[in-house]
Order: sequence, then C-alpha cells, then structure tokens
Amino acid sequence: MQYLEKLFGLTGKTAIVTGGGRGIGQVIAHGFARAGAEVVILSRSGAQETVDKILRDGGKAYDLKADVTDEKQVDTVLAEIEKRSGKVDILFNNAGICIHKDTLNASIAEWREVIDINLTGEYIMARAVGRMMIEKEIRGNIINMASMSGTIVNIPQWQASYNASKAGVIHLTKSLAMEWAGYGIRVNSLSPGYIATPMSADVEQELKDAWTPLMPTHEMGDPEALVPAVLYLASPAATYTTGSDVLVDGAYTCF
Ligand code: NDP
Repeated sequence: MQYLEKLFGLTGKTAIVTGGGRGIGQVIAHGFARAGAEVVILSRSGAQETVDKILRDGGKAYDLKADVTDEKQVDTVLAEIEKRSGKVDILFNNAGICIHKDTLNASIAEWREVIDINLTGEYIMARAVGRMMIEKEIRGNIINMASMSGTIVNIPQWQASYNASKAGVIHLTKSLAMEWAGYGIRVNSLSPGYIATPMSADVEQELKDAWTPLMPTHEMGDPEALVPAVLYLASPAATYTTGSDVLVDGAYTCF
C-alpha cells in the first residue's frame, strides 16, 4: 500500500477541476479527493452536489463560479484559490461543450462558442495556472480534456467545430509540454471515446443507436473508467510522462 501511495497518492496537493459540477468532471473530482487531494471545482453554475459528495466521503473540496472563457473571472478565482489553498498543483482542464450541426447549417457564432470554450478556455486556464506554478516554483501538472474526436472523425453526427477544437487541444498540450518542461511542469491530454454523461445523454436515441454497432465494445464507457488514467497522469508515477495524449476509447480508434 505504501508503494502505491508513493506512486499515485495526491495527499497535500490542490487540484482544480473545471466543469466538475456533473459528468466526467464530477467523477474525476471525486477520484482526486479519494487519492488525498483538496479539490477546487470551477463551473459557471456551481458544483454543490460534487462538493457535498466529496465532503460526505471525508474528502476536501470547495467550488467557485467562473466561466473559463473569461480571463478576468479566471484571474479572480485563482487569486481566491491562492488565498484559500495557497497554491495549485494539478489542473484538470475539462470544461467543454459540443454542438452537433453540419458545417453548412452551423452559424459562425456556434463555431466560435465551441472553439472559445473547448480550446481558448483551456488555454486561458492553462496559462493562468502555469503562470502561478512557475512563479511559485511548483512542479505541477496539467491534464487537458481532448477527445478521440481530436484524431478521428466519428460519425454519423457532424461536429466540425468540436473535432477541430479537440485536435487543437492535443497540439496545445504538446506545445505547452515543450514550453514548460524546463520548469518541471508536465502537460498531457486525455482522449476518451463515448462516455455516458449528461452531454452524451442529451443526444437523440437515433444517434445513440447508430453509435452502438460502431463501438468495438458495443457500449459507452463509464466515467469511472477514466479515473485511473487521470490519476496516473496527475501523480508522481507519471514523472516522465509529458506531451502525451492518452486514449481511453474502448478501441474505437483502432479501425
Ligand atoms: P457535461 O456536459 O456533462 O459537463 C460539462 C461541464 O462543463 C459542466 O459542468 C459545465 O458546467 C462545464 N462548462 C461548460 N462550459 C463552461 C464554461 N464556459 N466555463 C466553465 N465551465 C463550463 O460534459 P461531459 O462530462 O460529457 O464532458 C466533459 C469534457 O469531456 C468535455 O470537454 C467533453 O468535450 C469531453 N469529452 C466528453 C466525452 C463524452 O462522451 N461525454 C467524450 C470525450 C471527451 P456549467 O454549465 O455550470 O458551466
């Protein structure tokens, strides 16, 4: 146990999870807390349910409201986190949205909204947290939420803005990993396949029926299945893992 704790334990660490009020972010926030980290959840509408769950389990967590696309809001909450927790060791840059629309019918405003939240939002968060880590000489790490849609075009839904945003996240990750390697800051991305969350629950049944035969496992992943991969990336066990994109997709991208 001591061996595993040394490799994967997060005791004494502070982890930010964006979009942790529900879905994947909620489950990962819980996983970080179980591994010993204090967790700070950021979202636009608050994350009381996630915080209550973690506190009931004996963990440490609080939530703050912020829109990740708004630099001022991000700077304000980071100053608050610095006051309350002293520092940030881990950022799980997870907040994101998806709009299913073919290119000829999608508006430029919809394209901008997806790119703004999924790519620019992750950039704003990573930049603010990276700056704090560098100033405080914290050898922390950042995990950016990408998707298998960042490397393949999953069908039959058309979602060019989403796919492009996630491809951007994967290359942003590699770029920041190079840029900050000298500071001891690791930057990786996670690329899940279809995961059962409120985001995927919102799509019409017809689409889900079309997805199932295309999945080698014939079922969506449970968000819990992502926790070990994220804990690995966030932990001391991953000392030499930086600039990587970790696929957890039930073999979807193998064909
Ligand atoms: P959900 O829709 O369930 O949750 C998204 C979260 O992001 C919500 O808590 C939402 O909270 C928050 N959020 C959205 N926009 C902003 C913003 N501007 N500022 C702050 N928070 C924001 O999504 P999932 O859990 O399914 O997805 C999480 C991430 O995983 C996304 O990046 C998604 O692209 C990615 N992903 C999901 C897959 C899936 O199959 N579900 C597969 C691969 C990747 P609020 O509205 O309160 O701000």
